[in-house]
Amino acid sequence: MLNLKEIQKAYKDKTYTVKAVVNESLAKIKNEDELIGAMLSVYNETYINECIGIAESMLISGHSTGMTGIPIVIKDNINVKGQIVSAGSKILENYKSPYDATVIQKLKDAGAIIIGRTNMDEFAMGSSTENSAYKKTKNPLDITRVPGGSSGGSAAAVAAGYVPVSLGSDTGGSVRQPAAFTGLVGLKPTYGAISRYGLIAMGSSLDQVGPIATNVNDVETVFNIIKGEDIMDATSHKNISESTRDIKKRIAVPRSFINRDGVDEIIRENFNNTIKSFEDRGYEVVDVNIQNIEMTLHAYYIICAAEVSSNMGRYDGVRYGAHVEADTVNNSMIESRSKNLGTEVKRRIMLGTYVLSSGYYDAYYNKALKLREKIREEIREIFRDFDIIAMPISPVMPWKFGEKSDPLSAYLTDIFSVSANVIGVPAITVPTGHIDDKMYGSIQMLADWHREDILFAYGREVESIYKK
Ligand code: GLN
Repeated sequence: MLNLKEIQKAYKDKTYTVKAVVNESLAKIKNEDELIGAMLSVYNETYINECIGIAESMLISGHSTGMTGIPIVIKDNINVKGQIVSAGSKILENYKSPYDATVIQKLKDAGAIIIGRTNMDEFAMGSSTENSAYKKTKNPLDITRVPGGSSGGSAAAVAAGYVPVSLGSDTGGSVRQPAAFTGLVGLKPTYGAISRYGLIAMGSSLDQVGPIATNVNDVETVFNIIKGEDIMDATSHKNISESTRDIKKRIAVPRSFINRDGVDEIIRENFNNTIKSFEDRGYEVVDVNIQNIEMTLHAYYIICAAEVSSNMGRYDGVRYGAHVEADTVNNSMIESRSKNLGTEVKRRIMLGTYVLSSGYYDAYYNKALKLREKIREEIREIFRDFDIIAMPISPVMPWKFGEKSDPLSAYLTDIFSVSANVIGVPAITVPTGHIDDKMYGSIQMLADWHREDILFAYGREVESIYKK
């Protein structure tokens, strides 16, 4: 599929119509999605045609944006008015959203064509999309492998060429890791850069919406459209990154962290090659020791579970979610939750409730919060001297279905991705060429708060190293 700039040019030159582009997307989905399983639903014709009408009039009146007339698919945890939004869960199977998330409103205002919702791990808990209550999504690069997760459907939809861009959400890697697993670019913005209003919460202090696309420019275009302070989300703020500071051409590499056990040799080799190419281009690369980074995964699984247990409280079959009748209200709530929530969600609710319980609050939750502050301080120091911190996104290549069914082995694959969320800084993953005949390598780069501009600049450099 063409990239955003190419499509806009075609609209301008009148060599392509919005209808033709959208029809191409819909035809691809129809022909291929039975096999790939990226989509949970495609919106009806009336809805799509309405979006097309708006886009066409924007193009005619000369008020178009980078997203006008561009088909996009949305992770199933972002509210789209009038559509089912199930968060990949049976408990919300019939939930129709009464409102648009801020990011959806912004996309609509920009003239985007929202064509459907994508498969995901239930309530975004997972790293392979295997925790969806509905179906498995296959990796379009190799259908015997997982597409990553939890935004696996959004990544697979772009990788399969249905649409040029999609939206995912990233609480601990869920945009970046599936993007990397499917050979794409994924961005987790600075915490607060994008409004969370209308995003079904997983870990509220960690969640951010992020775009997935085939190239850095397209990710940047979507980011610029959906970012910004929002009165509906008190944690959102203006992007203050416009104050362009010079790029230092200095890269920090937490070498001992990357050399730890459990990292596939092929991942390390690919990472080292990319870093070497940066050095060849005049960048200074310095090994840094980030003392607490090893512990970030532990902090993540405590903080995230605690927030999950609190956010999941509303799905009791009364306030939200499928209702199961029983003899008492209490039993009805128990039945509604136990029948309609999956194993991983239940596991995290229990884990979260445990770490927040009065006897353990200080031992676990409070300790994790303190650790979070310590890591933040360390990272702040690093960004005084460096543009980015570089590391892989995953210690392993995309696995085969069922290979990581033991939860702990799945959690361990998040070792490199969770830091950006725990700290709150932006991070991007960019493909680093073929690693074998099917799969791609990927590099992850973290920058200072609100320095998405640095990530885009470095991302384009990676693209130029691996130009096909
Ligand atoms: N894989 C991580 C987890 O299971 C991250 C999920 C996410 O970012 N939504 O918690």
